[in-house]
Amino acid sequence: MKKTHKNIQIWYKAYGRLELPWRTTTNPYHIYLSEVMLQQTQVKTVLERYYFPFLKKFPTLKALGESPLDDVLKMWEGLGYYNRAKNLHKTAELLTQQGQTRGVAPTLPSKLEELIKLPGIGKNTAHAVATFAYKKSVPIMEANVKRILCRLNKLETPTDKELWKIAYELVDKENPFDYNQAMMDIGATLCIPKNPDCEACPLSDICQGQNDPTLYPAKKKRIVPTREQNIILYVYNNKLSLTQRKGKFLHGLWGFAHTEVPLCASEYIGDVTHAYTHFKLICKVYVYDEIDAEQNNYFTSKEIRKLAISKVDDKILKLYLDTIQAY
Ligand code: SF4
Repeated sequence: MKKTHKNIQIWYKAYGRLELPWRTTTNPYHIYLSEVMLQQTQVKTVLERYYFPFLKKFPTLKALGESPLDDVLKMWEGLGYYNRAKNLHKTAELLTQQGQTRGVAPTLPSKLEELIKLPGIGKNTAHAVATFAYKKSVPIMEANVKRILCRLNKLETPTDKELWKIAYELVDKENPFDYNQAMMDIGATLCIPKNPDCEACPLSDICQGQNDPTLYPAKKKRIVPTREQNIILYVYNNKLSLTQRKGKFLHGLWGFAHTEVPLCASEYIGDVTHAYTHFKLICKVYVYDEIDAEQNNYFTSKEIRKLAISKVDDKILKLYLDTIQAY
């Protein structure tokens, strides 16, 4: 294993993405934030549009914990999976309160068992914070790493338990930071889903699956269901009505009203589609431009831009603005 670890180190120094800002810091909050943002989003998007503005607005864990959730959701707008932002905020709030009680600046704990108790921190995020912020000798298990482990061991449908066991056996205990970062980079650039570059791979001397790598892991057949929704845009004095969502889905964001059956006097202006991970949403959009007594939050399009709204509602707003411009 020593030789493999050495090969990984050499490869990482030559080809790894060493300059990523969350790899050149030891600040646990910055590292934790990057881990949460990167859970469902590509490095390029996080780097170019979200990571730096978020840290500018909330430079410390304390600043984040003391800010209203609405401000956090606004900075998260467009990243999707808003539960990530809510849990990030809850964790910051909790740690800030704990810090105040103890009279110290809030920070993330370094122990896995304490990290994993915090809101929204799962097993992988806890391991990532422990190894990247505190240099603990533990592995990580994001999608790219899972694919590598399956191919190294010719595993088609391994359980999480099996994968973690293998990951713990393989981790470079002397240099876990570089090892874990390298594993993510190898998975992102060499051991890719189709046509992996095994010749250039520093793990090729121990890889059992390299003759037929795309067999591992076995592909899951996924049928994505479609859901339909009627959206009513209540318009009054060139303003649109929005309400703040209360349910679990998109909680806290502002959005347009849904309706079972479109109102008789409403006008259909088109469809908006949006792909979520587990379903495809088709919104049939109607405009109702008579006063409705139940609607009491009307905003201009300029004001709406300042609210935290979901990508779907942003698309709906665009459809509406394009439609009235066409008249
Ligand atoms: S040798 Fe090929 S299949 Fe094996 S880990 Fe490297 S890139 Fe992946």
